[in-house]
Amino acid sequence: MKGERLVKFYINGEWCGEELEQIDVYNPATSEVIDTVPAGGELEAKRCVDAAFKALTEWRNLSAHERSDVLMKWFHLIEENEYELGKIMTLEQGKPLKEARGEINYANSFIKWYAEEGKRVYGETIPASVSNKRIFVQKQPIGVVAAITPWNFPAAMITRKVAPALAVGCTVIIKPAEQTPLTALKLIELAEKAGIPKGVINVITGDAENITAVWQKDDRVRKLTFTGSTEVGKILMKGAAETVKKLSLELGGHAPFIVLDDADLDLACEQFILSKFRNAGQTCICANRIYVHETVFNDFVEKAKFAVSKLKVGNGLEEEVDIGPLIDEESVQKVQSQLDDALEKGAELICGGKEMEGLYFQPTVLAHVNEEMICMQEETFGPIAPISSFKTDKEVIERANNSIYGLAAYVFTKDINRAISVSEQLDFGIIGMNDGAPSIAQAPFGGMKQSGLGREGGQQGMEEFLEVKYMSLAIS
Ligand code: ADP
Repeated sequence: MKGERLVKFYINGEWCGEELEQIDVYNPATSEVIDTVPAGGELEAKRCVDAAFKALTEWRNLSAHERSDVLMKWFHLIEENEYELGKIMTLEQGKPLKEARGEINYANSFIKWYAEEGKRVYGETIPASVSNKRIFVQKQPIGVVAAITPWNFPAAMITRKVAPALAVGCTVIIKPAEQTPLTALKLIELAEKAGIPKGVINVITGDAENITAVWQKDDRVRKLTFTGSTEVGKILMKGAAETVKKLSLELGGHAPFIVLDDADLDLACEQFILSKFRNAGQTCICANRIYVHETVFNDFVEKAKFAVSKLKVGNGLEEEVDIGPLIDEESVQKVQSQLDDALEKGAELICGGKEMEGLYFQPTVLAHVNEEMICMQEETFGPIAPISSFKTDKEVIERANNSIYGLAAYVFTKDINRAISVSEQLDFGIIGMNDGAPSIAQAPFGGMKQSGLGREGGQQGMEEFLEVKYMSLAIS
């Protein structure tokens, strides 16, 4: 079924691109084409920068309160259209509708929060070491921001970047993932309705490399913010050097989920399910390797088996579905190869593991895995849960830290002192202590090591879009 709409993209306040070659957007649940979007290239990429640069002066000169009013209108429109947005997301991304609607609310929480926080871009006065000088420090918007976003959170990865950027007076150009442009375009339609002026927000679809190359070379783009794979993040980091752009990179993760011997096992298991199987395991902070103390290992594995066996896999539009399809065939192959590798190397299959039709993948639990298996070294991005046992806190901390990634880690224990002590020794940007879902608008989300640079969310997430200006006054 071909979609009825010929979706356009949005540059300088105009919906355009219908004359270009079109890219099909698929529903991963059925493999049907649901819509098409234009394949923008270098010309359109440049037009985005022209528009965003032109709109910058007026937008940054508004007061933060005026920008906040517009952002709040956008927030309310998204709230009113939450169901429709959720449905578009499920259709193009596959996640269950209740999760998609949850993501819309989560995405929207960034708009509301930054609409407020944008009013609090405080400067400083600093006492000088000489009596005839006065030192003032101000913060100002960095300028045009390019945002490149992935398919796993088609709405939240956009608002987490765009809301703080707009709130402090930047203008933005966005390239959403080719798999999930429709949610992004619908969000922008609502931004236009909310009265965000032309040129302040622009979005194009098309060839990622061509579009990004233009943005990278253009000196008017002062900030690049990206969520995606570590591999592409490294390419973008190199490219940004050409014009010395400020960078935020939210890259891959390989989250350890640690269950200590005194943990509340029911809570740990419930949060493990939430962390591991949300979005079919396709999140960068998903529990990727599960370490359970040897004294509670068997109990935890039993509970995990029981809970995972109840998860329902299917089309995300159907009620009661917990796990939708993976995004594409390549993802299915990758997850399958990690499973095959673990089984070949001696992992015990606790549940799941059977092949399914289409892009569906059975939630699978593996026990007695070891560090030689690929699933214990690399991000899985799928519904496989490898569980390993450990003897001491020291051992598990070392094993958890033994990774090039440092995004999220989880610790479960009833002893708050131990929770803090273990967390402080983990080299990760986000720690969930008895909490499998730590992401929230007010907190800084981001990784250490090869998981990225910078933070999104919280006050820190706003700093990413600000420049510091120091003004020295010599008085007579
Ligand atoms: P994933 O593996 O989650 O698909 P990617 O890093 O491949 O993550 O993609 C994330 C975003 O980066 C998408 O918008 C994609 O189009 C874009 N992208 C992919 N490859 C490149 C590239 N070489 N240069 C710039 N952007 C890219």
